[in-house]
Amino acid sequence: MKKSILAVASILIICFVTYSFFTTPKTQASNSPYENEYYYNEDQLGDNYSMIDASGSNTTNEKTTTYIDTKPSSLTVLVNKEYGLPSDYIPQDLEIPVITFSFPGYSEKKLMRKDACEALVRLVNAAKDEGLDIYGVSGYRSYDRQLSIYTKNIQKNGVEQTNLYSAKAGHSEHQSGLAMDVSTQSIHNRLDETFAATPEGKFIANHAYEYGFILRYPKDKSEITGYAYEPWHIRYVGTQLASYLYENNLCLEEYYNYSPSDTVSNDTAYGTAIDVEEHVDYNEEN
Ligand SMILES: [Zn+2]
Repeated sequence: MKKSILAVASILIICFVTYSFFTTPKTQASNSPYENEYYYNEDQLGDNYSMIDASGSNTTNEKTTTYIDTKPSSLTVLVNKEYGLPSDYIPQDLEIPVITFSFPGYSEKKLMRKDACEALVRLVNAAKDEGLDIYGVSGYRSYDRQLSIYTKNIQKNGVEQTNLYSAKAGHSEHQSGLAMDVSTQSIHNRLDETFAATPEGKFIANHAYEYGFILRYPKDKSEITGYAYEPWHIRYVGTQLASYLYENNLCLEEYYNYSPSDTVSNDTAYGTAIDVEEHVDYNEEN
């Protein structure tokens, strides 16, 4: 008799513990400072869509999404004039995507992170199937390279002017290894607005999201991104987030409910100059 009472009691305890285990995590998770890290996990992104949607469309409850992804190695990291990457951050999975570049030989500018590489190859090949040629122009940009550009500008233009118009190292999205500037031969692989009117530029605008890329600096979002329209700069964020942003006409800053601080330069032409600087350097060098 005692044994059977013990057995029943044990079973009840096991049932209770199991029940608690499966019912409490949601409450615990909502108290966790890392709750939004679930954004990183694409498998669970679906569960968060309603939360993202609610905050994105409701400007009054800004408190709900004050969390901004600043984890350097995250595929959804926000990098802009205000949020930089650490000086020692170098992505560990950089590779050269098997696509055609606008210049020959090895350069770190050909590098991108593995996931972004694979997606870019699929995107470029899909364009090729439609008779379009998309060229890689500028990808990864190390902290050291950003710093050397900054230093070069100080020598050329002086400290005052440079601080007004040159990027602080660590603030180029290209350091994430998730961005690539692309162009096409009909415009001599230039990085300017004319790319948008080319068939290749239209393909990028209409289909990049299907491969996990967003147009990072859209035409109508300059005030919030701090960059003028850049139809050539694509950023990998994964297909689910890219589709979500595309379908809802949101830029990454809006997704994170970010708005620029007063101290941040809102000179969009300056932002664009930062992004194409390397390309200009390349032309000067060659
Ligand atoms: Zn760029």
